[in-house]
Amino acid sequence: MTDCLFCRIVAGEIPSTVVHETATTLAFRDIRPQASSHVLVIPKAHYADVAELAVADPGLAGEVLAAVAAVAEAEGLLKGGFRTIFNTGEHGGQEVAHVHAHVVGGAPLGPMLA
Ligand code: C5P
Repeated sequence: MTDCLFCRIVAGEIPSTVVHETATTLAFRDIRPQASSHVLVIPKAHYADVAELAVADPGLAGEVLAAVAAVAEAEGLLKGGFRTIFNTGEHGGQEVAHVHAHVVGGAPLGPMLA
């Protein structure tokens, strides 16, 4: 059994609220939402962060971005806009070492670094 939290969500060992799924990606609601809509989009395959993913499998990185767009549409965020964040590494505040895009929106978010 892997000790990666998000690999365990992919495997169905830890429950999540899935909002979008493809053969290679999974999107589920963040358990501590920071906005009225807050979804995490991940590749099902394990890569530690977006830099590692982009180098190892740029095609899969594109599929993650396509899933971000699909989630934004499903969540009704395309008209008002939304924010996509890949926290990366210690200085980026990344807590879970399985690459994930935060998709947040639903209301004006204010300055990015506030
Ligand atoms: O970018 P960072 O690694 O800090 O984000 C991890 C995110 O994973 C957090 O927003 C946390 O709320 C979320 N999480 C989750 N479900 C879990 C564990 C963490 O949605 N079971």
